[in-house]
Amino acid sequence: MRTPIVAANWKMHKTCEEAVSYFRRLLELVPARREVELVILPPATLLFLAQKHLAGSGIAWGAQHAYPEPQGAFTGEVSVTQVADLGASFLVCGHSERRRLFGEDDGLVARKVRAALEGGLIPILCVGETLEEREAGRAWEVVRGQLAAALADLELPSPERLVIAYEPVWAIGTGVAARPQDAQEVAARIRHWLGERFPGLGERVRIQYGGSVKPDNASDFLALPDIDGALVGGASLDPESFWEIARAA
Ligand code: PEP
Repeated sequence: MRTPIVAANWKMHKTCEEAVSYFRRLLELVPARREVELVILPPATLLFLAQKHLAGSGIAWGAQHAYPEPQGAFTGEVSVTQVADLGASFLVCGHSERRRLFGEDDGLVARKVRAALEGGLIPILCVGETLEEREAGRAWEVVRGQLAAALADLELPSPERLVIAYEPVWAIGTGVAARPQDAQEVAARIRHWLGERFPGLGERVRIQYGGSVKPDNASDFLALPDIDGALVGGASLDPESFWEIARAA
């Protein structure tokens, strides 16, 4: 049995005040007993507020980015160690916005995944093809390549300590979600590939779909057999809409 996991990627949004009112509202909305794991991923400046306001709520939180070196002369960066020290549980690795806008290549993604696992964080490893790659029939080849690179040289991770987010690049922030059958097909292939690469992992690892998930389409994805949750950007910025999506799980 895989517990569904729905994560809110706030991207570069919200002030301290907005974050606090979001947390307060979310805590009012979410019942103490629930069958879905919730994860909030605020920008680095707001992580300490997540620590303060979500403590004891059972709602997890994590970072959208951290640098894999433990410390050193890396001006502007925050390390995995620092994020873990604050009490975070999750780290997004390989998000397409970081790959595309900040030049994060497969090598850096692999280092982040390894550093996260070694530092006690659960990587949410994002993989996905561009529209061009999909139209050229290369979606699975691209996703498989990203998985292989990010998980190269790793020992068998515990299934609870790894989350994969299948996020077709063309569906992120565009309002055009993937067709559920396409998301299911890639998720099933990811699961199968993981099972071959790490015996026993495939059936137990959680796979999210991400890309223009909204309250009105969430159940189309969350009902799919190989999709165990969602990574939500735009629609997660409002606590009501985020909780509505999570409830569909
Ligand atoms: C994301 O940021 O990972 C994402 C899926 O964004 P959106 O839901 O806005 O498409």
